[in-house]
Amino acid sequence: MSISGAEHDPNCIFCKIVAKQIPSRTVYEDNEIYAFHDIAPWAPVHFLLIPKQHIPSLAHVTGGNAALLGRMIALVPELALKEGCNPYPDGGFRLLANTGKEGGQEVQHLHFHVMGGPRPWLRG
Ligand code: AMP
Ligand code: ZN
Repeated sequence: MSISGAEHDPNCIFCKIVAKQIPSRTVYEDNEIYAFHDIAPWAPVHFLLIPKQHIPSLAHVTGGNAALLGRMIALVPELALKEGCNPYPDGGFRLLANTGKEGGQEVQHLHFHVMGGPRPWLRG
């Protein structure tokens, strides 16, 4: 699938995942968005939702990214259920975007964690 007019950082692990240079377990893909299973899950369901474009963090998002961000968030309920999260309100999911050093961000490519499934979880 093509990557639409996006910028990519050759040293970024998630850009490499988008480019299929590093393997991942796909949850969802379109021309702007990719979702894949977290390699070290905290919860029975744990996947990451990323823009294919290299946006370093949520702190870099501006109004120009609103449509993309809106599409990403709008995918979450459908993908969460598809991946095995139980329905709201007894089930549900957690949506998390660690941002910056103090926000606990380790990979500098914008990503939303989507976590769910029966508790207890390893973290979170
Ligand atoms: P954060 O701390 O919010 O930056 O989260 C980065 C997440 O990326 C962590 O939950 C890692 O387990 C996950 N991660 C790192 N490398 C990979 C990889 N190659 N495939 C899937 N998930 C990864
Ligand atoms: Zn990147």
